[in-house]
Amino acid sequence: MPPIYLDNAATSFPKPPAVAEAVLRYMTEVGASINRGVYASAQETGMTALSLREGLCRLFHHSDPTCCILTGGNTVGLNMLLRGWLRPGDHCLVSSVEHNAVMRPLQALAARGAAFERIPCDSDGRLDISSIPSLLRPNTRLVLIAHASNVGGAVQDAAAVGKICKEYGVPFAMDAAQTAGHWPIDFDGWGLSALSVPGHKGLMGPSGIGALLLRPEFARELSPILAGGTGSASDLEVQPDYLPDKFESGTPNLPGIYGLSAAVDFLLSTGVETLRRHETALTARFLSGLRGIESIRLAGPWETENRVGVVSVDFRTMDNAEAAFRLEQDYGILTRCGLHCAPAAHKTLATFPQGTVRFSLGWYSTAAEVDAAVEAVSALARG
Ligand code: PMP
Repeated sequence: MPPIYLDNAATSFPKPPAVAEAVLRYMTEVGASINRGVYASAQETGMTALSLREGLCRLFHHSDPTCCILTGGNTVGLNMLLRGWLRPGDHCLVSSVEHNAVMRPLQALAARGAAFERIPCDSDGRLDISSIPSLLRPNTRLVLIAHASNVGGAVQDAAAVGKICKEYGVPFAMDAAQTAGHWPIDFDGWGLSALSVPGHKGLMGPSGIGALLLRPEFARELSPILAGGTGSASDLEVQPDYLPDKFESGTPNLPGIYGLSAAVDFLLSTGVETLRRHETALTARFLSGLRGIESIRLAGPWETENRVGVVSVDFRTMDNAEAAFRLEQDYGILTRCGLHCAPAAHKTLATFPQGTVRFSLGWYSTAAEVDAAVEAVSALARG
């Protein structure tokens, strides 16, 4: 029996067939660099990157493709945002369920004089939005939250956070690692200043590529953390200040751009709402199967509203690493155990330090796979 892949929060698998085809076509038929040649294949790479920026803007409701920066992945995008924006003396608010892709750069910046505080979440990982105004300080220069936790799966009310940020004039940014491609995102409507997404999770593209979407005024003030060749303004030794070149130095991941472009085309033609409905239905099925199993604890909400298909289980009568091992060995079910690079989230959800076994669903997950996972959890929990 083929393995049952339930680790889509780490990276989605499988991908739409067009993704690998596009990567292969680039590697075998196109091959040219970008912005650095006038021959037809070099023009084609530029057009593919442009079409990817346009597709991402359509997907996330952002009106300006030049402000869609292609990054080396979500961690790179979040570092570009935090390190390019926060200065010594600045203050930043984050949620209490952030991933280390946010917390580690923030801790590094804190060591150099920036400060941060955590907006509390309840024990299911839902943000206490009403506490935000009292946490804002005169020097708060950014509110950054994970749209959904990669441990508990709760989706935060981004529109409500955006409204408060707008009222107080503080830029609002999101890490959409677990929602991009899983959940509708409205960049302009929610008043976002920055949105970082990975290409390889819900967008179903390759790894090593992502995007940082910026509001034009925010992009003008954001400093690039890298400088170098852009294939443009080659007479100058200073970094161009126009977009996207300001933030895109060096030859980019072109196989990634081709693959992600095909993936975004697939998402746009399928519709994120269709993907969300599929995932919500499977999550509801999974949660209802887990409900009756007594010796496990769910880390995250039982409700199926406003959550993605990230389902974290604490096997109270068995070591979680042992449970994940047995899930693979005995049932062919692939999950991830431990702290998922998010110790703060586990502290919020009361699963620190033991962590959880995380099952995460995707577009290619099926009801039969979910049923097999419920059976396996039930059998393991019985001992
Ligand atoms: N933030 C969250 C919420 C995540 O789940 C992840 C990936 N686990 C990241 C950031 C980092 O993404 P990447 O590893 O793709 O750079």
